[in-house]
Amino acid sequence: MPRPTAASSALFERARSVTPGGVNSPVRAFNAVGGTPRFIRSAAGAWLTDVDGNEYVDLICSWGPMLLGHAHPEVQAQVAAAVARGTSYGAPTEPEVELAEEIVARAPVEKVRFVSSGTEATMSAIRLARGFTGRDVVVKFAGCYHGHVDALLASAGSGLATFAVPGTPGVPASSTELTLVLPYNDRAAVEKVFAEYPDRIACLITEASPGNMGVVPPEAGFNAFLAETCRAHGALFVSDEVMTGFRVSRQGQWGLDGAVEGWRPDLVTFGKVMGGGFPAAAFGGRADVMARLAPEGPVYQAGTLSGNPIATTAGLATLRLATDEVYAHIGAAAETVKSAASDALRQAGVAHVVQATGTMFSVFFTASGRVRDFDDALTTDASAYAAFFHAMLDAGVYLPPSAYEAWFLSSAHDDRAVQTVLDALPAAARAAA
Ligand code: PLP
Repeated sequence: MPRPTAASSALFERARSVTPGGVNSPVRAFNAVGGTPRFIRSAAGAWLTDVDGNEYVDLICSWGPMLLGHAHPEVQAQVAAAVARGTSYGAPTEPEVELAEEIVARAPVEKVRFVSSGTEATMSAIRLARGFTGRDVVVKFAGCYHGHVDALLASAGSGLATFAVPGTPGVPASSTELTLVLPYNDRAAVEKVFAEYPDRIACLITEASPGNMGVVPPEAGFNAFLAETCRAHGALFVSDEVMTGFRVSRQGQWGLDGAVEGWRPDLVTFGKVMGGGFPAAAFGGRADVMARLAPEGPVYQAGTLSGNPIATTAGLATLRLATDEVYAHIGAAAETVKSAASDALRQAGVAHVVQATGTMFSVFFTASGRVRDFDDALTTDASAYAAFFHAMLDAGVYLPPSAYEAWFLSSAHDDRAVQTVLDALPAAARAAA
């Protein structure tokens, strides 16, 4: 049954008259799936409540950050106490030190610098890589999103080893003419560009396990191969863990591959979970590379609200509460949802594949059996996903409003929340058939 949307529709109308598209980040507008975006009034645990009073089990979790669910009482209490002490000083604070220590203890970084968004983190990481190596070329993969950094909003040029073209109007060709875009999971393409541009590649940046073309995990050993190739050519390996960091495991994606296979990235970017629902992000890495950063070194980078005391308090509280049990709980709930989704789709005769890394996953509507790169992702059936999405929404489950996004759960996804998802799946699967 469609749910009432009069209040969301009215707000959307007002929003569109004062904000482009009515939203402050494009995917929120439901353009990919159609219909009225829901304006959220409040959230608690695994549940969102919209302005019409509808309740939804949240499988977006703010696009990843809400690892512990919404309005976690302990995080809320620490944030409230921090707010009472003032909200921004523009001077160093203790929570910044503690959060940096927590990140260094978990992730493969020796030093870390805070910023306010994942975009800033990747932008700063590639600047630092260029400053450290004295080289100018950056390699990225098609379908990997690293925020709206000009040089990284790039599409592949006409040949494999030609420089990229702007991915959006507003990015000048000069901003992408030092970016090379390769197909994901393609070792030969990586070897080819490193051979073709000796001594020019400053860094290769990749999502540690891509989630922005839907979840397309690295093939076994792919990240290790990237790290090794970069090392052999004097380039830095930048692992973007903005989405996966502290989300797919206690140590992020690196905990699932690097720690097991015995390699480390040179630089890592973080965001989302580390801000506990506030605008906080970071980049970090090898001490000798980070030492090139101002004020220690000559590479300039700064931020008025970087390391903001409220955001760092929320992030620290979140990470301290993110124990092995939390990841085990989310992993088990994700397994239940994944296999129920697969069963429902199979019974409805809908060709699909579920791809996951750690606790994060996507359901692709495709008969190909596997999505290996961005071209594969683009051949999946986005209109079947839209039908599925709306049937789930009508049944009280809030999925990402795009076929090319990850699904996220939290430690607050209890039996009632998971059961609501399971109950919604059969009809949604039939709607997608
Ligand atoms: N890198 C990755 C892997 C992301 O998923 C995102 C955002 O979704 C970003 C960078 C950019 O982060 P932000 O939206 O905080 O700028």
